Amino acid sequence: MTITLRAPRRLESHVCGEWVPGAKEGQTLLDAATGDPVATIDSTGIDFAAALDYGRTKAGPKLRAMTFHERAGMLKALGLALMAQKEEFYAESLHTGATRPDGWVDIEGGIGTMLTFASKGRRELPNARVLTDGDVEPLSRDNSFSAQHILSPLQGVAIHINAFNFPVWGMLEKIAPTLLAGVPCLVKPASQTAYLTELVVRRIVETGILPEGALQLVCGSVGDLLDHVTEQDAVTFTGSAHTGRKLKTHPAIVQHSVRFTMEADSLNATILGPDAVAGTPEFDLFVKEVAREMTSKAGQKCTAIRRVIAPRGQVDALIAALRDRLDKTALGLPGDEGTRMGPLASLGQRDEVRARIRELQAVAEIVAGNPDDVRIASGDAGKGAFLNPVLLYADKPFEAAAVHDCEAFGPVSTVMAYDDLDEAVALAARGRGSLVSSVFTDDKDVAERVVLGVAPFHGRVLIGNRASAKTSTGHGSPLAPLVHGGPGRAGGGEEMGGIRGVKHFMQRTAVQGTPRLLSAVTGRWIKGADTQQGTHPFRKSLAELRIGDQLVTAARKVTQEDVEHFANFTGDTFYAHMDSDAAKANPFFDDRVAHGYLIASFAAGLFVEPNPGPVLANYGVDNLRFLTPVYFGDTLQVRLTCKEINPRENAGHGEVRWDCQVTNQKAEVVAQYDVLTMVAKQWPQVS
Ligand code: NDP
Repeated sequence: MTITLRAPRRLESHVCGEWVPGAKEGQTLLDAATGDPVATIDSTGIDFAAALDYGRTKAGPKLRAMTFHERAGMLKALGLALMAQKEEFYAESLHTGATRPDGWVDIEGGIGTMLTFASKGRRELPNARVLTDGDVEPLSRDNSFSAQHILSPLQGVAIHINAFNFPVWGMLEKIAPTLLAGVPCLVKPASQTAYLTELVVRRIVETGILPEGALQLVCGSVGDLLDHVTEQDAVTFTGSAHTGRKLKTHPAIVQHSVRFTMEADSLNATILGPDAVAGTPEFDLFVKEVAREMTSKAGQKCTAIRRVIAPRGQVDALIAALRDRLDKTALGLPGDEGTRMGPLASLGQRDEVRARIRELQAVAEIVAGNPDDVRIASGDAGKGAFLNPVLLYADKPFEAAAVHDCEAFGPVSTVMAYDDLDEAVALAARGRGSLVSSVFTDDKDVAERVVLGVAPFHGRVLIGNRASAKTSTGHGSPLAPLVHGGPGRAGGGEEMGGIRGVKHFMQRTAVQGTPRLLSAVTGRWIKGADTQQGTHPFRKSLAELRIGDQLVTAARKVTQEDVEHFANFTGDTFYAHMDSDAAKANPFFDDRVAHGYLIASFAAGLFVEPNPGPVLANYGVDNLRFLTPVYFGDTLQVRLTCKEINPRENAGHGEVRWDCQVTNQKAEVVAQYDVLTMVAKQWPQVS
């Protein structure tokens, strides 16, 4: 495939509702493989204070007025619209040096991440504007004073400063949780590959799906942007530790205690278990994974394997197998079918990687590849930022500080030997905090020792073995539901991690007060808040149902015949229900007791309204606890209270959570749980 030549595109920033070019000509950005000009970039003249103000005042209120489900719906629509245009992004992505599989990680990986957040938002968050965090904390004996932690969206702008290696994923994995939280974003892509980010943002803006100002883009330097941050803003950064530290200590960020999430250098390690000797499936998987991590995106991945830790006896076989694979990696133009690895993102980046390899050579020897002799299958070696994979070996890894300190951000890894597993763990920890580590083993003890040993130094740990070979997502793939980030050198930040990532853009507040008012704040019924009784709440559609609608049922006595009938009918003849002596010998019971599930079943029989009505289905219970034993002759009564209502967007029904409390004749709580139902929005239903 050939890349069509065209005049360099003048990139624009999208701020204050407009696309604006920089006032100056700016820097020319070159195609990674051909060296041809792709775009020019400049942000001179942009009023950054106004851009932040625009996001805060124009988009913030609109996003906050939406519920989580509405925001999730917005992300889904956006993700689907972007997916429909992916081929245009793939074509532009070639300029960055990305092959089709590299582009897939960036483009479809990014859009997929956005869609995952959309679906998690709908499934795991309430259709509300405020999130409760944890249980109600009762603070008084008479239940007149309680507390509830809540999370509410920050009222500022989230500034996302991104790295050059993932121009699409890097943006989408950050804006998806931010927008779901209800916070507007301002994205600053790394200049080198900003043309792809700019293209995607253009397509996003064209959809009209996001509220005006919810996504702004700065192409080029951010100028004095950070001087204008306030206490309600947040900054996330991905890039070099050097820049990250500089920005983290920016006076305005320090002065206003601005949340700063940093993801920087990471010398990720992988460990070959002592059981995974040559000839085992784990050894082969290990070789494949190391080679893949070295060559995917030409090693320009924050999660790539930089350090390869193997039992001393396996080192020769490992190096031979890796050399064989790496030698076969066809380097060339990213659009060519035969190409397995494209160039680095720029000539400057290649110079940088070569310099780092020289640093590594002071403590390690090259055992595969030659950084100064480029061998390519297609393209012009004089123009593109090509570099064949380079494998090094450090014989004395504990003395080779550079191997653990120096990040060569390209197709470069260093093999090192260990003599016992503690040494392997200690070597991995020498990275002083990384995004991810992996261990390849089929031995339970090895898995336990390595994972528990390296976990405090990592945000994610992958165990690879034969059983997960086909389904494993691999060492280098951050996933939307899992934490991405790492301690120490990796920056100390956390991104994604499912709904955890959404909470990074919200403020946690402990709200104390009387239950009636706490319930009004959260939109959830809590114990002690107002209740109202009347029509059976199962006769009410979502249009009529209110938080606090309550049913207090008639009472029902539990008899020995009931318990024996239930035992014989279900087969649950556990001794505590059937054998008086054995039950008495049990420390928890004075005599035979009723089954917990019989109590729950009788409760349903007491609270149910049997006729066809707006309650469509019962889809489970949450937090079921049996708190007091029920003896023969005890009487049960149920108090069922509407606790949470979540109408579904684009459906004729919603979820209703009911607080269900079962008490005995002494008013002791014998069972407590949430009943989960689907309820029609209207009854009779309108089709
Ligand atoms: P930088 O730290 O130079 O840049 C990262 C981002 O910060 C870019 O968007 C850059 O913009 C921006 N930036 C730079 N200086 C400032 C500033 N003073 N104020 C505000 N923003 C600023 O990293 P690079 O992308 O150039 O990569 C350099 C090295 O970083 C790599 O070789 C690699 O070692 C490491 N890296 C690590 C990653 C990881 O997650 N582990 C990911 C990517 C890189 P601009 O491009 O316009 O300068």
